[in-house]
Amino acid sequence: MRIGVLGAGQLGRMLALAGYPLGVHCVFLDRNSDAPTAGLGRLMVGGFDQPERLAELAGEVEVLTFDVENVPAAALRAAGVEPLCRPGLLALETAQDRLAEKRCFESLEIEVAPYRTVDSAADLQAALKTVGYPAVLKTRRLGYDGRGQRFIHHPEQAAAALRELGGIDLILEGFVPFEREVSLLGVRSPRGAMAFYPLSENHHAQGILRLSRSPAPNSALAETAREKVERLLVHFDYAGVLAVEFFESEGRLIANEMAPRVHNSGHWSIEGAVTSQFENHIRAILDLPLGRTDALGSSAMVNLIGEIPALGDLLAIPGLHLHTYDKAARERRKLGHATLVAPDDQSLEIPLKQLLRLTAGQR
Ligand code: AMP
Repeated sequence: MRIGVLGAGQLGRMLALAGYPLGVHCVFLDRNSDAPTAGLGRLMVGGFDQPERLAELAGEVEVLTFDVENVPAAALRAAGVEPLCRPGLLALETAQDRLAEKRCFESLEIEVAPYRTVDSAADLQAALKTVGYPAVLKTRRLGYDGRGQRFIHHPEQAAAALRELGGIDLILEGFVPFEREVSLLGVRSPRGAMAFYPLSENHHAQGILRLSRSPAPNSALAETAREKVERLLVHFDYAGVLAVEFFESEGRLIANEMAPRVHNSGHWSIEGAVTSQFENHIRAILDLPLGRTDALGSSAMVNLIGEIPALGDLLAIPGLHLHTYDKAARERRKLGHATLVAPDDQSLEIPLKQLLRLTAGQR
């Protein structure tokens, strides 16, 4: 069986690797001929906005799925490939626009931070009055890894934030004084089967995920998160893995955003769960039985950002699983990740300290 993947980054790479044992092959479409999936599946070079390339890819595969979420839905419709897209375009379009996403969350009674749309300086002043300080001004579209957002702590910072992000549709969010950030990944197949991974605890620096621990220590809210993700999966008649990121604040979960694809906070599942998120995504989009999502112990996943420490140093850490993505080193770029799995949180402490020491100061 063959899956068409839009984008050929590290997520596509790990999907392809998970597909091999199942006899499932990936065909990729990407502008970059030197993508991280090179060698793992046929790579068609082209843009997502080229209906003829999309149609050509669709002609070779059973289903289409996404390595990146910013694929224009209009191009997919124009190419006539919408029926093959898993997940479907409603989930994709909702996740592409922070306003649509928040409205969707609210309609399903999933709490979000207070927010207002901002299209002008006057809107921003009015929004700051309602939302209060501190607040976060974000672009509605195309923001990722902390890009496209400015924190506003004082009224004097408003004009600069607007100027820096300006010219496009924005949203102002109230700052959530969270105790921690968590995420939960759910997976659903077209026949309606669902499974949920344990809650992950996520640590970011400069807007980029650095460390995920799964199952999150003290996962009292895991069931609450699971119910919210389930509501979204059913709402979208979803196929594949869906990730939802939450702020945990005073015993409540406040949804931040969702990703209609496999997610960085689920990479631990390659070694740390019975079935990885990548394999389950493939099973789901091909409407095959889902695999078990139970954790095999306590896992910690650390991203390798900007540079990969010396191989010998990484592999000297007992039990470490290394994944590199074959990407050129650049500041703020995710070049790989490393996962540790131990029987419990306590046995994870020493190797995790070693790994964090090796990656300290990465930018
Ligand atoms: P995002 O691009 O929305 O995932 O935001 C990147 C990071 O900025 C988040 O992981 C949080 O650490 C922080 N952040 C974003 N929005 C808020 C908010 N409303 N309140 C507090 N922190 C936020």
